[in-house]
Amino acid sequence: MIIKPMVRNSICINSHPEGCVVSATRQIEQAKKAMAGGKATPEAAELPKLVLVVGCSAGYGLSSRIAAAFGYGAATVGVSFEKAQDKKPGTPGFYNNLAFEREAAKSGLVAKTVNGDAFSDETKAETIKAVREAADKAGLPAKIDLFVYSLASPVRTDPKTGIQHKSALKPIGAPFSGKTLNMMDGTFGTATAEPASDDEIANTVKVMGGEDWELWIGALESGGLLSPKTRALAYTYIGPEHSWPIYKNGTIGRAKEDLERACRDINGRYAAGGKIGWAWVSVQKALVTRASAVIPIIPLYVSCLFKVMKERGLHEGCLEQIVRLYRERLYPEGSADPAKVAVDEAGRIRLDDWELRDDIQEAVCKKMEAVTEDNVFAETDLAGFKHDFLEAHGFDVEGVDYDAEVDLSNYQ
Ligand code: NAD
Repeated sequence: MIIKPMVRNSICINSHPEGCVVSATRQIEQAKKAMAGGKATPEAAELPKLVLVVGCSAGYGLSSRIAAAFGYGAATVGVSFEKAQDKKPGTPGFYNNLAFEREAAKSGLVAKTVNGDAFSDETKAETIKAVREAADKAGLPAKIDLFVYSLASPVRTDPKTGIQHKSALKPIGAPFSGKTLNMMDGTFGTATAEPASDDEIANTVKVMGGEDWELWIGALESGGLLSPKTRALAYTYIGPEHSWPIYKNGTIGRAKEDLERACRDINGRYAAGGKIGWAWVSVQKALVTRASAVIPIIPLYVSCLFKVMKERGLHEGCLEQIVRLYRERLYPEGSADPAKVAVDEAGRIRLDDWELRDDIQEAVCKKMEAVTEDNVFAETDLAGFKHDFLEAHGFDVEGVDYDAEVDLSNYQ
């Protein structure tokens, strides 16, 4: 079959197997170079050797797994929820995981991937088994050094009640209206959203808040997989003030507040008693992933942001963000003591420092006001945005022949 992208309302509903494999493999090569020397530092004993990534198949989670494995030589267990291919291609994450496992095997790295709903008790139990097996295969004690929680999901079935909760991306208290950019053709529109109801707020917190992260920590502790060296991470976004009505002060922001609440509770319950080292929420930069492209303000804001950051040599993708997170925040030399990890006044790790710099935000705001449909490709990095979006689904990847027949039997 020949596969071309099918995009509807900022959602790409198909994937290109070869494009995903080439893109993930390139990211692995990039990680090896960027993290070169990672294994040889005097602090090697403190670097993570056994790593669990929940949400491992795309975006920040995929980069977190790649950098841990190919940068630090860690044995990794990944969890994601992918549709496998049958007669039709599977989800992009299916092929990203395949590429990861192939490259890990070539490099002699232990890697196990669990495909299942991370919110369920069954997947947690299966993962605990996979971590023990991975540790055994790698000749390591079954103690997780780093646990990365990087889920982005629109729905969650609560394992206790069986109720399925759906998140809503809405403002709270007042309606939202903002300029939007159609990434495929560069036309502008207006997005409007009515304020969320109390139920919608509660449901979004249930899906994207911290409850499931806490359940994971509890399950790992019951499975005997935590140690005073274990570090736990979950990702969040804050963004510039003009995005707050729809993001930080909206339903998703409420959920992220709950993630921070969970982080404090995890530290109070587990780190204070020496059961883990420490847990952090890390604030990441806005990037184009399958999850972020559907947020109304993102295509316009990120296209302007990328233009400004690229012009100033400050642009980072998912991998560069994670490399900086690992090397300069979580595991720099002398980082054996978690108290030495640099955090802000609320205890969060900050990787959005460059994005939120005053000079960057001033330039981005000016651009967002001045841009028109006539100059959008010249004035913003819409082309870069569109490329990253397509690449997240295996399209627009350099060197891949999109007119060639795809034989799915090559991807199992
Ligand atoms: P993504 O869509 O690229 O990846 C999400 C991952 O979660 C995938 O591996 C997917 O398979 C997995 N997943 C979703 N539902 C699942 C389920 N039920 N069970 C198992 N796995 C499941 O998302 P992303 O943008 O990398 O987001 C990851 C985290 O980073 C989120 O918490 C997000 O808020 C945060 N973040 C993202 C950005 C951004 O701009 N993309 C910025 C800052 C923080």
